[in-house]
Amino acid sequence: MADYQLFIDGEYCDAASGQTFTTSDPATNEAIGEVAKADKADAARAVEAARRAFDEGPWPKMSGAERAAKLRKVAELIGTKSEKLAEMEARDGGGTVKKATFADIPGAQSAFEWFARCAEDQPDEVELPGSPFPPSQNWVNYEPHGVCTGIIPWNFPFIMAAWKIAPALAAGNTSVIKPASFTSITALMLGEVFQEADIPPGVVNVIAGPGGTAGEELASHPMVDKTAFTGSTEVGRRIMQLASGTVKAVTLELGGKSANIVLDDADLDIAAAAVLFGTFFHNGQVCESGTRALVHRSIYDEFLSLLVDRAGKMVIGNPLDFNADLGPLVSRGQAETVERYVALGRDEVGEPICGGSRPDGLAEGLAAENFYRPTIFAGVDNSAKIAQEEIFGPVLCVIPFDSDEEAVAIANDSIYGLGGGVQSGSLERARKVAAGMRTGTVWINDYHLISPERPFGGYKQSGIGRELGVEGYNAYRQVKHVHANPGGGRDNYMHFSALSANI
Ligand code: NAP
Ligand code: MG
Repeated sequence: MADYQLFIDGEYCDAASGQTFTTSDPATNEAIGEVAKADKADAARAVEAARRAFDEGPWPKMSGAERAAKLRKVAELIGTKSEKLAEMEARDGGGTVKKATFADIPGAQSAFEWFARCAEDQPDEVELPGSPFPPSQNWVNYEPHGVCTGIIPWNFPFIMAAWKIAPALAAGNTSVIKPASFTSITALMLGEVFQEADIPPGVVNVIAGPGGTAGEELASHPMVDKTAFTGSTEVGRRIMQLASGTVKAVTLELGGKSANIVLDDADLDIAAAAVLFGTFFHNGQVCESGTRALVHRSIYDEFLSLLVDRAGKMVIGNPLDFNADLGPLVSRGQAETVERYVALGRDEVGEPICGGSRPDGLAEGLAAENFYRPTIFAGVDNSAKIAQEEIFGPVLCVIPFDSDEEAVAIANDSIYGLGGGVQSGSLERARKVAAGMRTGTVWINDYHLISPERPFGGYKQSGIGRELGVEGYNAYRQVKHVHANPGGGRDNYMHFSALSANI
């Protein structure tokens, strides 16, 4: 039996094949559990359970207020398990326990709470103005799509599960989620929470297994009505293709290469902190990371020295230690990707002004090959590959500019458009710069703050649709327009003569 089983139709179970895979802690390379490995058949079984729960079960028929009460219970139960969840989140993915405690676990709870509010507050029927002739009454009903699948990445496994499950359930859908293979544990642990919250069987299902088999089934199964994906742009394209077979609704949250613009009137103390937080939080393994810092030439040298000084003070260590600012990358493969991009940067730009190697002197037992120092390349041209391609690691490119217009043009010179920042002493000036940026979120004098109450998503190749906010709730609702002719005789049906007066 696997240590971490699939959660299908309200029960934990092994994969039909009996196969498992090992998940490990990238801080130490220690194996931390055997996870049931779903394949296509298990994914299909989970989709069928979700279909039955939608077509025959009570969930879509419950009132918004009843569903909201269940979702609030889920949030509360997550709170009672928060310590264990935070520990497993940190161990499975290598993020710090500090991040798991302050961001991941409360962030997931607040997503369930926000979408509970949506279920209560957002009307599911809205009257529209009718027409006098021919007379009509018109209204719109908002209804669940049906079965919604979600495929999620390894960088924020727990919060991403909440972002997919909470809006789906709030709107009356049923759901099947597949976490990333590197980080399946905490999403699977949610099964217990759903059991204890008395969510009916089949309403939520969580399966772990390879993207190429289990994931593809979730994006293509004909019983699925909507699929939501967070991950790389490359796999996002594949999801769209798979979903097109039965024209499913699709939302995508993909990669980014966001620009954080530091204007010459910025408070440099805060701006340097915002650039470092925007880049190095979770080792840059964050889709909206501001990995291009665009810095006005008049403050460029002073700003660089602040960055270098402070980047060197971040503590790299065991992520289970509350004092650690940075743990390992999620995997050796990811650390090697960073290493390759840094080598490319050395060719394109020259020596980084800090970092550029694995850290020395880590505590015994830590797998040094999975760690990487915060690395900054200065004087980067935006056309360099390290400025154009998503590295998903602790690597910052600093790019000088001379005018606000030039900064906006450089920011927009990217295939991506997910996040971005403007650091400035003038809100009016920063607003203008923000207005020019082709990106789904802009932080002024800040970075990374995401609230379930506000929409999040990407322009261009960073995605389609929005998660969170009312927009993210409505992404899980179909729109039905009803037109009612009150009757009243043939005079009200003149339009039929567009076909013939004789019908
Ligand atoms: P990924 O390779 O795209 O994987 C994401 C998820 O898709 C995983 O669950 C993966 O399963 C699954 N998958 C892989 N191939 C699939 C296929 N052919 N069909 C269906 N599912 C498939 O990305 P990642 O390596 O986890 O994450 C890093 C990337 O995600 C970065 O590029 C980053 O920018 C992006 N990202 C974006 C956001 C956002 O909100 N926009 C958030 C986080 C990450 P396996 O784990 O089994 O391969
Ligand atoms: Mg792991």
